[in-house]
Amino acid sequence: VLDELRNAVGADHVLTDPDVVAGYVIDWTGRFRGATPAVVRPAGVDEVARVLQICAAARVPVVPQGGNTGLVGGSVPQHGEVVLSLRRLDRLGPVDAAAAQVTAGAGVTLGRLQEHAHAAGWEYGVDLGARDTATVGGTVATNAGGVHVLRYGSTRHQVVGVQAVFADGSVIDRLDGLEKDNTGYDLGGLLCGSEGTLAVVTAARLRLVPRPRHVVVALLAFDDVDDALAAVGALRRAVDALRALEFFEQRGVDLVRAQMHVPPPFPEDHGAYVLAEAAGGTDPTEALADAVDRLARVRDVAVATDARAAAPLWQYREAHSEAINLIGPPHKLDVTLPADRLAPFFTRIRGTVAAVAPDAQVWLFGHAGDGNVHVNVTGVEPDDERVTDVVLRFVAELHGSISAEHGVGVAKRQWLHLTRSPAELQAFRAIKDALDPAGILNPNVLLP
Ligand SMILES: Cc1cc2nc3c(=O)[nH]c(=O)nc-3n(C[C@H](O)[C@H](O)[C@H](O)COP(=O)(O)OP(=O)(O)OC[C@H]3O[C@@H](n4cnc5c(N)ncnc54)[C@H](O)[C@@H]3O)c2cc1C
Repeated sequence: VLDELRNAVGADHVLTDPDVVAGYVIDWTGRFRGATPAVVRPAGVDEVARVLQICAAARVPVVPQGGNTGLVGGSVPQHGEVVLSLRRLDRLGPVDAAAAQVTAGAGVTLGRLQEHAHAAGWEYGVDLGARDTATVGGTVATNAGGVHVLRYGSTRHQVVGVQAVFADGSVIDRLDGLEKDNTGYDLGGLLCGSEGTLAVVTAARLRLVPRPRHVVVALLAFDDVDDALAAVGALRRAVDALRALEFFEQRGVDLVRAQMHVPPPFPEDHGAYVLAEAAGGTDPTEALADAVDRLARVRDVAVATDARAAAPLWQYREAHSEAINLIGPPHKLDVTLPADRLAPFFTRIRGTVAAVAPDAQVWLFGHAGDGNVHVNVTGVEPDDERVTDVVLRFVAELHGSISAEHGVGVAKRQWLHLTRSPAELQAFRAIKDALDPAGILNPNVLLP
């Protein structure tokens, strides 16, 4: 099989040296690690098709991998699978201004896509902290969310069509950019959130939005989480140019400050923080300021009206993942709650974790505008699943979802039944069996 793979993509692009493949077999958090006989790096859709034909014929399982920034262990070979790295598929087409679309190869990073769109006066609606490494293919496969979901939706909402290769090597190509096309099943939509289990995404046709001329960021301090949550609802109602509403706590600020050596945001500490970003063709600063003035319980405010001043405010939120990793490896439990269950969730979550792991530390932050809380837990062994179990059961009890945006991966597959019914799981299995009958595509993730 290795010889055939070398013939397909060139010997230089079948990596087998343990030192060279080391970075491909461990996840970003350091919690999930495995081994692989080879990392295969095709350069285009035809080579991807050939690789899958070879692997299907030999029944060799394959783990597709983009930037390897996924947070549920799904991009790591757990049981000696071949890693199919898509990073060399990095062609970026010209921005189509008439259609407000662009075609991007699976290996293009979000950061490069954003720069490309900005240069043409546009923006891509998905943005997240791992932008310089996460790829278009990985974000489609995980249906990535990020900081602008409340305005533009998740990756699924940006995808007009995809080019992808099924497990048998057959190719689908829907990159023509038709905004309307009701000719049957939306296969591109099906691949959003499929985590590499149904096909390998090789390119995507993506929607763009006009690049806003004005962006204003406000960091708001509150005494406690209840006041911060009340502000989130009020700001959503009052400011139609809002595009990010992030949440974090004082203990998260303390950790970021200690790990990143940055000054405090305000002279005094506060219990909870909301970071609000508004953007538009006309300046939203006044609308945001008026809305903040009307918030009864805001204790302090820092405002930035240009990118240079906004970066340090964003850093308090975006550096959470990296700062936690430095004291990790963490158990990363990314969940969503209905808006009216967030308050009871925050009240009880630390007690829930303490019941099974009294010495664990719990870090809470996330995309408050979407009801999306990142529950990060440190001080627990990587293979100790007790914390995951109690947190995900608690989320299910509150009618939330056990994965808001990171996916199910390896980390949560055994809990999927908590929030997906037997009928849904049966449909998942039928789709998987139809598209990948030999089960060679990412066999360790998603499906219980
Ligand atoms: C600092 C940091 C911040 C983050 N912030 C966010 C956030 O705000 N929102 C969010 O949603 N996520 C976030 N993430 C998680 C991560 O960036 C996303 O899940 C991202 O979509 C993964 O992209 P990737 O290219 O790194 O994919 P990988 O990690 O390589 O793979 C992820 C999954 O997709 C599959 N896959 C990858 N490429 C393909 C392909 N071409 N075809 C088929 N399957 C494929 C893999 O098999 C795996 O199951 C963050 C991660 C970090 C490290």
